[in-house]
Amino acid sequence: MKLIFLGPPGAGKGTLADLAVDVLKVPHISTGDLFRAAVKAGSPLGLKVKDIMATGGLVPDELTIEIVRERLSQPDAKNGWILDGFPRTIPQADSLEKLAPADRAVNFEVADEIVIGRLSTRRVCRGCGKIYNVKTMAPKKDGVCDACGGEVYTRDDDKAEAIKFRLETYRKQTEPLIAWFGAKGKLVTIDGVGDPKVVLERFRKALGV
Ligand code: AMP
Repeated sequence: MKLIFLGPPGAGKGTLADLAVDVLKVPHISTGDLFRAAVKAGSPLGLKVKDIMATGGLVPDELTIEIVRERLSQPDAKNGWILDGFPRTIPQADSLEKLAPADRAVNFEVADEIVIGRLSTRRVCRGCGKIYNVKTMAPKKDGVCDACGGEVYTRDDDKAEAIKFRLETYRKQTEPLIAWFGAKGKLVTIDGVGDPKVVLERFRKALGV
């Protein structure tokens, strides 16, 4: 199954994708994670995107589409995938339709106040990318990843100024995709508020998986 996860930053796309991978047995592909890995490695791509990401802006479409094209060509993506954080613009969605059309676009609905609260308490493992929340899903040992022992940190773009900008960017550039996928008959809408396990059950029911 080929799925796109849509929704504002902090809607829980990454957390749900990590849970859904066990159900669907397809890889979770996050463009944010791919870019963060490039920044960490100090690659030419990483140097290009570092400052854009820190402020919460969008990486240019050409670079983003290229990184997705490359990732989808890998053997583990042959039988399906969950794309988390891509597409984020209409040109990206157009490119994906030509490259490998998704079966469904799942939109996680969460109100702004909840999203802002979640992002400001979100933490991420620098090693494996596992997502935590200091209020609701803290690592057992403060600052240390339960899964890999890596450092659990606050993303630059989860700081107050960047959160505001990311939400504005989402409204302008990404939200129109909801209607776009709706018009193609591919949209599935899910209430993204609540415990991730509860949201996973809503997801399973809505998709029949
Ligand atoms: P995320 O982890 O999905 O919140 O992504 C983190 C950051 O990576 C975003 O704020 C953008 O700077 C960049 N990014 C991730 N996915 C995309 C995309 N599809 N298009 C443009 N920039 C992206």
